[in-house]
Amino acid sequence: MAHRVTLITGDGIGREVVPAAQKVVEATGVAVQWEEMPAGEMAAEKLGEAVPEETIASIIRNKVALKGPLTNLVARGWASPNVTLRSKLGLFAQVRRVRHFDGVPSPYRGVDLIVVREAVEDTYAGVEQKVGPDAAVAIKFATRAASEQVARFTMEYARRLGRRKVTVAHKANILKLTDGLFLESARKVAAEFPDLEFNDRMIDNMCFQLVRAPLDYDLILTTNVYGDILADLTAGLVGSLGLGFGGNFGHAVALFEPVHGTAPNKAGRGISNPIGEILTASMMLAHLGETAAAMAIERAVERVLKEGKVLTADLGGRATTAEMTGAIIAALNQP
Ligand code: NAD
Repeated sequence: MAHRVTLITGDGIGREVVPAAQKVVEATGVAVQWEEMPAGEMAAEKLGEAVPEETIASIIRNKVALKGPLTNLVARGWASPNVTLRSKLGLFAQVRRVRHFDGVPSPYRGVDLIVVREAVEDTYAGVEQKVGPDAAVAIKFATRAASEQVARFTMEYARRLGRRKVTVAHKANILKLTDGLFLESARKVAAEFPDLEFNDRMIDNMCFQLVRAPLDYDLILTTNVYGDILADLTAGLVGSLGLGFGGNFGHAVALFEPVHGTAPNKAGRGISNPIGEILTASMMLAHLGETAAAMAIERAVERVLKEGKVLTADLGGRATTAEMTGAIIAALNQP
């Protein structure tokens, strides 16, 4: 029976990379019935809602969604559609993974890092206030329940993937109450997982360490804002934002999306790298229990990048999104 999956094409290059990922999923032979739903800038303009209720209902019904990037509409007076999706669906853990592929120019070889970001609290809860005309405050939230929840998810996820080590990134020396609570919660949960190595780093030192010796790290658990920043930093280590992939997890629902945004400077030109979205779809297939198809996609990407004949501009080549997608499908069909 076909898997029913909600599909959000999204904005900008989402309209190019999401169809590419659909084609690759189709080429694996796994039957997926896509339920396409609106969200983002187009939805806001056409329907007056950046995240319509029917989209939320479809994801809850299907339990799994694949999405492209969405334009942040905060400057135009709308709530961020990504934050709305995460809060309405209870998606408390965001997983962002990068791995280095042979053939991709980067000074770092062998990097394979996962950042798990607490996705509902911190200053991204969006509670800000003006204090007179020349000052403003934002509130940073941290609760024991949410901190322990994401820590438990991270440890279980590490175990499931056979990862060995979890590092918590924080700034508990300065933010003693908020980041202090996050760190304390992570330590408490980690004690229940003695098979995993556990340590912590201040966020500033974490950035330094990742640039200096990324192979020393495996899975990083962190708060909302630090996680947002670290995910892009780790994508830089493997050569392109276009290679990062991931998913958002709640108790009942999983929504898969790449690390990159809508790339307005590339949108509509057919030159963006579809690999982040394609590997995101592979992660989704693994979640659906289609492990062989998921691994076949990852191997096909490995093969195309190693050959180095078909590379998009972000990887130093001249291939179009369609050419890169075609090469991955051809590699998938090779024995
Ligand atoms: P971005 O990720 O869209 O782009 C940053 C740089 O990386 C640009 O130079 C872009 O061309 C390049 N890039 C990104 N993805 C690429 C790909 N697949 N192939 C080739 N090059 C790629 O980040 P930004 O410019 O800061 O954000 C643009 C918009 O996207 C904003 O509205 C932002 O809020 C939104 N955004 C959405 C998500 C999401 O939906 N999850 C994530 C990040 C940013």
